[in-house]
Amino acid sequence: MILRDPDGRDYEVVVDEDKKTITIRATYYTDVNSSETLQKGLDAWNKQSGIYSYQVGKRKNAEKYTICFDLSIAKDSDGNFLSAPLDIGESRGSKFNMFSISESVPVYARGVTEDGHICKVRPDAPIRTTIHEIGHTIGLGDFGGDNVMVSGGTSSRITSSNVVEILKHAGFVCFGTWSGGSPIKEKPTHSIIDYNFNGSGCVGKFK
Ligand SMILES: [Zn+2]
Repeated sequence: MILRDPDGRDYEVVVDEDKKTITIRATYYTDVNSSETLQKGLDAWNKQSGIYSYQVGKRKNAEKYTICFDLSIAKDSDGNFLSAPLDIGESRGSKFNMFSISESVPVYARGVTEDGHICKVRPDAPIRTTIHEIGHTIGLGDFGGDNVMVSGGTSSRITSSNVVEILKHAGFVCFGTWSGGSPIKEKPTHSIIDYNFNGSGCVGKFK
């Protein structure tokens, strides 16, 4: 099952029913000068793989899906950087993001993301800015609290609330969204629960 984001062009969420995984997958077009910075930013997200799970059903019927991140730089089989498709309608453009280091970004902004998929960061920006702009390409807006998605903040932390919000943006029903906190306040956990508040607990699956 593949769930696309609303404009259908910058990332996808792939559910594997057999492996019990939910994978947030995207490709980034970049250039030699920007690739090292981009890779560090992608690594920060990819390292979240396996930390979170999404639970559907309760007790005996509970099923857990491991949440994975698969964010990569677009290269050909020889390792050369691919240039971005000119037309986003091109087949290769379905998960189309661009990243470049650019002096044109205002000093106060450090980084920008246009249309949710074209990222630019200043050469003097901290790596936090790159992690933040990548977050905008996978469905996140700006956050409050203490995490990497706080606009103009200093924290590089990717939190459970960030991951919950990515799933919600992709159409999953999640319980608990408060910023910087655990999905379940009284019981810290990395398990994100699919709850349907109809009085009888959770019944839904991938609504
Ligand atoms: Zn932002």
